[in-house]
Amino acid sequence: MKKAAFWFRRDLRFEDNHGLYRALSENDEVLPVFIFDPEILDKLTDKQDRRIHFIHQRLNELDAKLREMGLGGILIVHGDVVKYWQKIIKMYEISSIYCNNDYEPAAVKRDWLVDENASMMGAEFRSFKDQVIFEENEVLKDNGDPYTVYTPYKKRWLSQFSVDMANPYPSQDLLSKMWKGRIPEPYTIERIGFEASDLQVPEKDIDFSSLISYDEHRDYPALDSTSRLSVHLRFGTVSVRKLVSQALKVNDTWLSELIWREFFMMILFHFPDSTKKEFKGKYSAVKWRYDEEDFKKWCFGQTGYPLVDAGMRELNATGFMHNRVRMVTASFLVKHLLIDWRWGEKYFAKKLLDFDLSANVGNWQWAAGCGCDAAPYFRVFNPHTQLDKFDKNLEYVKKWVPEYGTTEYPEEMVEHKESRQRALDVYGRALGKIS
Ligand SMILES: Cc1cc2nc3c(=O)[nH]c(=O)nc-3n(C[C@H](O)[C@H](O)[C@H](O)COP(=O)(O)OP(=O)(O)OC[C@H]3O[C@@H](n4cnc5c(N)ncnc54)[C@H](O)[C@@H]3O)c2cc1C
Repeated sequence: MKKAAFWFRRDLRFEDNHGLYRALSENDEVLPVFIFDPEILDKLTDKQDRRIHFIHQRLNELDAKLREMGLGGILIVHGDVVKYWQKIIKMYEISSIYCNNDYEPAAVKRDWLVDENASMMGAEFRSFKDQVIFEENEVLKDNGDPYTVYTPYKKRWLSQFSVDMANPYPSQDLLSKMWKGRIPEPYTIERIGFEASDLQVPEKDIDFSSLISYDEHRDYPALDSTSRLSVHLRFGTVSVRKLVSQALKVNDTWLSELIWREFFMMILFHFPDSTKKEFKGKYSAVKWRYDEEDFKKWCFGQTGYPLVDAGMRELNATGFMHNRVRMVTASFLVKHLLIDWRWGEKYFAKKLLDFDLSANVGNWQWAAGCGCDAAPYFRVFNPHTQLDKFDKNLEYVKKWVPEYGTTEYPEEMVEHKESRQRALDVYGRALGKIS
């Protein structure tokens, strides 16, 4: 009797799950496991963190489904990952651990440790590609270097892609091979040190035909015309293969967004220091302002710039912000307020339900002009023009800033022209363009 474990991480689904499919098809019985890792949890200061609530809720759904089928459920534990694996291997007599590849620097290190420890105990560690179409070393330049500019990366991605790469793995058809023995009931959220939040989860089974005119409508925050699938991609509650298959049918621009996601994942893998340092080193000379009062106004949506304030309030209230508005708020922080992009990145990381290290760092560096493929530093978004273009009728603004237009709404905290000029001067000096 061949017994294996499947370790759920960023792939919280039974359908079209590559690692799970391999575990179920290559073994007689598979123990599903999720480990709440204190290395991650202890860093979260908000005890009502929406991401933890989301994961907890999702695990409960998956566990309940298995129990309804007369199976054991999911073994959900909280503690040191390596030690737990040692215990699980022994207690459940597991000969292999299956999972899907995780590319973030800390995850790569963690998996390496688990692999080492498992092999010392005679168990195999097997990890598969699942959350991307192309991994970090599969779309490279002719000379083997990683791309650092998006357009040629995308061109290469498309030229290497074939439809069969998006074929699903029928993991859900093999669920009867999941563990049949008794598994303890899942932990309550309180037992892992958290509380339920005001979490609202966007639909994961969307009608893809709503994305047919994505390219025309995606920039208008009031239209709500993007997929809202980012949180599901982040935690793997949908399969990227399914989304790419749909994207091919509905809209090329939407497919390009999925490719941006893989581009930034590839960048993070090859340039792990980019989480802390400017991708383009010369930008590290920019003299940022570390003004806590100004930063707070930005965080709480009190800048006096309605599109910026609406975005920040949407983020605080829901854990989501529309992409166009993410661009405007990020640009406002780094250019108008000249505050270090790392502060903004950290704040988004704390609040975003779809927080993804690679996309967040990549986009923040892009906004600050120091990232790979970033716009030139002298392109400074004008928040007034952005509002006129993308929320002309103030529908989005009125939703999040109801006092806009009344005396209760704050004055603009900085003047656009002046702060734009200040940014140009500070960036220009750092880059040696002006003395
Ligand atoms: C400053 C800033 C920070 C960001 N931080 C994150 C983050 O932490 N996590 C995150 O998933 N996205 C991030 N984004 C990218 C983008 O804003 C979100 O992916 C998008 O708004 C999610 O909404 P959606 O699912 O409706 O996207 P759609 O427009 O429907 O796009 C489909 C999917 O493509 C991917 N995608 C779209 N745009 C981008 C992009 N610019 N970069 C990388 N992937 C993209 C996402 O997975 C998204 O779900 C950030 C953008 C900016 C400007």
